[in-house]
Amino acid sequence: MSQRAVTPSELISRESSGSPGRFRLHPERASFYSSRLGLGHTGPDIAFDCFRPLSGLDATDREGRRPITYLTARRFAAALAGFRGLTVVTTPELLPFVPPENGVLLTNDLPRNSYYSVLEAAHALGLFERLETHISSTAKVATSAVIFQDVFVSDHAEIEAGAVLYPNTYIGPGVSVKPNAVIGGDGFEATSGDGRHIVPRVGGVWLAEGARVGSCTCIDKGVVGDFTEVGSHTFLDNLVHFGHCARAGRFCSIIAGAGIHGSATLEDGVWVGPSAQVNQNIRVGAHSYIGTGAVVTRDIEAYSLAYGSPAKPWARVCECRNKLSFEADQAACDICGKEYVFRNGRVQRR
Ligand SMILES: [Zn+2]
Repeated sequence: MSQRAVTPSELISRESSGSPGRFRLHPERASFYSSRLGLGHTGPDIAFDCFRPLSGLDATDREGRRPITYLTARRFAAALAGFRGLTVVTTPELLPFVPPENGVLLTNDLPRNSYYSVLEAAHALGLFERLETHISSTAKVATSAVIFQDVFVSDHAEIEAGAVLYPNTYIGPGVSVKPNAVIGGDGFEATSGDGRHIVPRVGGVWLAEGARVGSCTCIDKGVVGDFTEVGSHTFLDNLVHFGHCARAGRFCSIIAGAGIHGSATLEDGVWVGPSAQVNQNIRVGAHSYIGTGAVVTRDIEAYSLAYGSPAKPWARVCECRNKLSFEADQAACDICGKEYVFRNGRVQRR
């Protein structure tokens, strides 16, 4: 069985923001997996259609999705309150803490490991959608580049020698990929517990129009049908690591040796200096400037100049990266003239 390929425009239309939506999972019942993976099954036999950690459950999911999730400890059980129609991977000891009307897959392993085993099985059985295969006749692709199936290369893109594009990579119009860049690799995320089981990846990488990827830069694919995303006209220098599900907005610059780690978000116009590291799940506000070698361990507000380890915001900067001086909550850039106000605790353009 193999799910159909989806076009980039279909993926975009699933989100109103201009970002790609997720690859969909063909729904199968919990019993379909329990027999294949040797897991116990009890409660309603629900056909689930997406994977979500407990923290990612949304009671008002507008698409009416039926997620599978996992419960690792009694103290997290409150997060299941009010949900019905879930499938929950957990242990026999934790079964009493799963509310009725939810299906349960029972494991004697760590629930997180078994949850990812289900993901791996869904992927191996071809139950996830995949990206349409296409290479534009106007794209320039070096003969030594390695391009797998399920890769979409748009018009006027340039893929240089030795670059590797793994499945579910979208290369937008005019994107440039320099030699030996690796896009859509699995990356490295081990499950907790024994720490030796690498989480399987079934998402993709999205490089929007005009993005540039430097030599030997690596961009890992999303984990559960979602995308690692590089916004339009954002430049990644050489030797950048861009982790799974990370996202950079438009017109960002990420300089040599920097690391943007799993699920981190850079809003539009962010500049990340050489060898700076932005930790997992961190958000950096628009037009911020992260100094050389900084280690960003907390969210950074828009228009901040931040550096050090751990990085702290030391000043405010203009979109042209000149420092701003506020007087009575107002500032004007003495280089480009843009004007700003400090309102509700945030810097905003006037
Ligand atoms: Zn300025």
